[in-house]
Amino acid sequence: MAGDLKISEMRDLTKIERVGAHSHIRGLGLDSALEPRAASEGMVGQTSARKAAGVIVKMIQEGKIAGRAVLIAGKPGTGKTAIAMGMAKSIGQETPFSMLAGSELFSLEMSKTEALMQAFRKAIGVRIKEETEVIEGEVVEIQIDRPAVAGAASKTGKLTVKTTEMETVYELGGKMIEALGKEKVQSGDVIAIDKASGKITKLGRSFSRSRDYDAMGPQTKFVQCPDGELQKRKEIVHCVTLHEIDVINSRTQGFLALFTGDTGEIRGEVREQIDTKVAEWREEGKAEIVPGVLFIDEVHMLDIECFSFLNRALENDMAPILVVATNRGITTIRGTNYKSPHGIPLDFLDRLLIISTQPYTEEDIRKILDIRCQEEEVEMSDDAKILLTKIGVETSLRYAIQLITSAALACQKRKGRIVEIEDISRVYELFYDVHRSTQYLMEYQSEFMFSEVPTGEGNQD
Ligand code: ATP
Repeated sequence: MAGDLKISEMRDLTKIERVGAHSHIRGLGLDSALEPRAASEGMVGQTSARKAAGVIVKMIQEGKIAGRAVLIAGKPGTGKTAIAMGMAKSIGQETPFSMLAGSELFSLEMSKTEALMQAFRKAIGVRIKEETEVIEGEVVEIQIDRPAVAGAASKTGKLTVKTTEMETVYELGGKMIEALGKEKVQSGDVIAIDKASGKITKLGRSFSRSRDYDAMGPQTKFVQCPDGELQKRKEIVHCVTLHEIDVINSRTQGFLALFTGDTGEIRGEVREQIDTKVAEWREEGKAEIVPGVLFIDEVHMLDIECFSFLNRALENDMAPILVVATNRGITTIRGTNYKSPHGIPLDFLDRLLIISTQPYTEEDIRKILDIRCQEEEVEMSDDAKILLTKIGVETSLRYAIQLITSAALACQKRKGRIVEIEDISRVYELFYDVHRSTQYLMEYQSEFMFSEVPTGEGNQD
């Protein structure tokens, strides 16, 4: 009974799908000529920023740029994070994308530069290629030769496979012998042997291109030989990030840390060894580097040390594309007394391609709210949407988005089906936007603790 209960509880839990702030973003919404569609893939408006982001994505996909940095700057709630998410979605699955907020760097568990280093290496992919041989032709004879060691058959041995087209001898490991046994390979069978993993795939008793292709999975490659003969070569590609290789090879952590995320600091020597190994693989043509994207939100939270780390890290030829975002104007660079645009030191600023986001028009806000209603599965009357759009224009897009869920709850409470003006008004009165909250503070500041604004010096805007 107790077991049954647990299973049903688990099923219920997996059913919950959370709707995040950006879950409606599925790409940048551009057409093949990189022109932004008015509303597509969850994206609305912000056309020039989206187009610029699209050009960068294109360059990343074509492998043309590495170690570049892009700044998305604009007022709060103008879609900077949304554009970065859109970039991540349109880049493709194989390209690593790692994201962090500037404030996350200030943790007690590791130094800022270590946290940055880990974020960098999470955004650098290594595509490791493994070529495996395929036995062509019909197998006429299979011989397994296992020398006897101290009375018992050795775990390793030799496999001789004679086919109508070739004869190959393989050194066998225990895994392979086991696999041969499992697959019940006999003379006359067509088999594929993956020498690296010892995996044996029995393809049947004759060769058929389409069926064999299916049997070996989408990574199998058929290569047309110069003489027109079909030759089959199986290529397995593994994609991992440098950070994953670091963690697996770090003796103090072990690979389980990958699941817990509790990786701690990784020693410099481990990284050096890994970089040397990866460089060797690249020379031998066994591996390729896939520079991904590292997105740092709230970049003004970084201090001067972090910026100097970034400056240096971007010089590395494996460096990912760095995308940073901020909503700050001219402000103090953390760790210094100097002010600079966006709180970013001038030398770093000079490296950046800058994309700026513009405030939304009423029509854009209306469309974004429409998309969010769909995403949150909230039905709303046209009048209510008009009111919510007006609220969005006068307060902020984010505030208006947040009212959707609470208005839906208010509607549910009165047993309504469609969110109406009354629900929006109700939650508008319940939850303050920043402007009203500030006004309230100004009126009643003397009743709050530690108020520093002298009486009568209210916020007039
Ligand atoms: P901040 O400066 O405060 O970090 P931001 O510029 O990063 O703000 P976002 O968080 O991206 O703003 O936008 C606020 C909300 O509006 C999010 O839910 C986002 O998904 C949505 N949004 C913003 N711009 C668009 C857009 N062009 N199309 C669709 N949704 C958008």
